[in-house]
Amino acid sequence: METYVNHLYVAGRRESAHSGARLGITNPATEEEFGSIADADDTDVDVAVRAAHTALTADAWRSLTPAARADLLDNLATVLDRRADEFVEVLLPQNGFPVTMQRLHVMGAANLYRYYAGVVRTYEFEELRTYRGSNTLVRKEPVGVAGLIAPWNGPQPLAAFKIAPALAAGCTVVLKPAPQTSLDAFLLADAVAEAGFPPGVFNVITGGAATGAALVAHPGVRKVAFTGSTAAGRAIAQACAADFKPVTLELGGKSAAILLEDADMELFAAKAARLCAPETGQVCFSHTRVLAPRARYDETVQAVTAALAATVTGDPRKEDTTMGPLISQAQRERVEQYIALGREQGGRVVLGGGRPTGLDRGYYLEPTVFDQVDNSMRIARDEIFGPVVAVIPYSGEAEAIAIANDSDYGLAGCVFSQDVERALQVARQIETGSIGVNMYGTSHAAPFGGVKASGMGRELGPEGLTAYLAYKAIYGAPDDAVLAPAG
Ligand code: NAD
Repeated sequence: METYVNHLYVAGRRESAHSGARLGITNPATEEEFGSIADADDTDVDVAVRAAHTALTADAWRSLTPAARADLLDNLATVLDRRADEFVEVLLPQNGFPVTMQRLHVMGAANLYRYYAGVVRTYEFEELRTYRGSNTLVRKEPVGVAGLIAPWNGPQPLAAFKIAPALAAGCTVVLKPAPQTSLDAFLLADAVAEAGFPPGVFNVITGGAATGAALVAHPGVRKVAFTGSTAAGRAIAQACAADFKPVTLELGGKSAAILLEDADMELFAAKAARLCAPETGQVCFSHTRVLAPRARYDETVQAVTAALAATVTGDPRKEDTTMGPLISQAQRERVEQYIALGREQGGRVVLGGGRPTGLDRGYYLEPTVFDQVDNSMRIARDEIFGPVVAVIPYSGEAEAIAIANDSDYGLAGCVFSQDVERALQVARQIETGSIGVNMYGTSHAAPFGGVKASGMGRELGPEGLTAYLAYKAIYGAPDDAVLAPAG
């Protein structure tokens, strides 16, 4: 695939960008710049949004039944499955996630398109409600052109979280991928065309924060969905407020893994690496705070340390690699600053803390575990987005719940106990958008999102579809036959 790209994908075609500005793409595993993308300007954004709007109102898309849209989504899933290896090849040098994970990401995205195909086949887009002699047809209409902004840590699945329900709802979209991971968005554009979607239903613009901000502000965009940092999310929420645009924000986290006194430590140890530092800690639901009862504190520190020590840091192309590099030099420096701050504030590094030996090129960092952490320390409060885990002691369940909830964030969480009912009781008291019992794992069928600084709105599940629908109530006389829902 071409890696020096000066085009955008608009109205079913690759169109040269109006903007002459370019952004380089660096392979985080080799530190080599191997490509570039257009840094789209306001004119580019305008052209893409207009194309999406034209497609929204064209018969080729508007006249499709939900079942016909579902068929197209199924086709897209099939194309992704067939072309998965191509996606993996393009993704690998962009974000440096391990090859085994890249495959799962593409498969997960394909399955999500399939999931929403199933949802809209049975979804009631028109529903008759009768109440006290009134008769109302409740219609759920596509909200309009959706502006979708994706991050680099899971570009295909996190874009699919937005694209799949948007297209299922009948919206058209303009996707702005992260500048680090834009090349695979053009592969997706090819797949969308191959699946049979009409031109203009799916468009791609590339660029950085300014391009994203121009998309959010464009008056033709009627819905915004974003995954990324809390700081950018706050700016986007403010911009959307000015125009009353509905917005879904999936932001950062500082999730807690809570071990109750009767936790099965072997079970926790087996899952700890994927729970606490998945993809070198660059995942929003990383459980970077581990809360351990004082009586089992040392045992817990050992379990986390052993699990992270057993991870394999190195070349993302190797099948046995479980930790690739961090996304950039700047991000590695930021994580290193947090490690220094953790030490300064009284934490003790019991694993890692530096750069791995033998990996001279690439933004690698050792998985790092701190003990003697208090929940007030910065390493326990800020989203670091690196492989840094803090083990925090507690006395009694009430204190565990209080510590877990004493966070600006509320995205994920998990509770380990051999008594599932007891774990469930604790889970119910955690201020979070999702939480697992003796595990953590999202489901396509369940709403995903956060509370507090972790965001607003939900993706996935039928709830994710409603984010792209506008409700219209059509009132009629009690026995008005005209109000029959469309079949
Ligand atoms: P970011 O939030 O700055 O960027 C994410 C996406 O939003 C990119 O596509 C970017 O171009 C776009 N963007 C940025 N500012 C924007 C704005 N004002 N308006 C519209 N679009 C905007 O994230 P980043 O720079 O890639 O990473 C920085 C930090 O964000 C990380 O260290 C991490 O803490 C956090 N992060 C979180 C997630 C997550 O899944 N929650 C994902 C990526 C990054």
